[in-house]
Amino acid sequence: MDGLVLPGGESTTIDKLLRIFGLFTPLKDAIAGGLAVYGSCAGMILLADRIVGGALDQQTLGGLDITVRRNAFGRQVDSFETDLEVTGISGPPVPAAFIRAPVVDEVGPQVQVLARTSSGPGAGRIVAVRSGALLATSFHPEITGDVRIHQLFVRIVSKEF
Ligand code: GLN
Repeated sequence: MDGLVLPGGESTTIDKLLRIFGLFTPLKDAIAGGLAVYGSCAGMILLADRIVGGALDQQTLGGLDITVRRNAFGRQVDSFETDLEVTGISGPPVPAAFIRAPVVDEVGPQVQVLARTSSGPGAGRIVAVRSGALLATSFHPEITGDVRIHQLFVRIVSKEF
């Protein structure tokens, strides 16, 4: 396996299922060993070393030296779409859908910030990061029909970015 996508969903449930099915430790070890992973939304939470607003027993796979804040834009009804300038992606801004999305509160020195919100609630919040072979976005790029975030991940997997 060259790369893995951890999708959106519900990070507390994904965490529980990873543990129940015995995938948590092998996956954590693979990430620590350099596996390329793209995490969107709940996937970003799973990749974060630290969570604000996690469930009591919530664990993460970790690997990304970030502090992520769950549900930072509010509840499901507060979901929104906006356009983002993303480092590494040329052309028009990237359309991004935020669904009960997290934001990144803090990044460690090795983490590159790829995008921040430019408008909407709390403009300037970090919503896309990359560190080595790990890429994470607060938003869902897969439902807007723009494949450039996924292409960026393929470039990371092929060591072209
Ligand atoms: N709020 C969810 C969580 O904490 C993530 C939502 C999503 O992936 N769209 O896991």
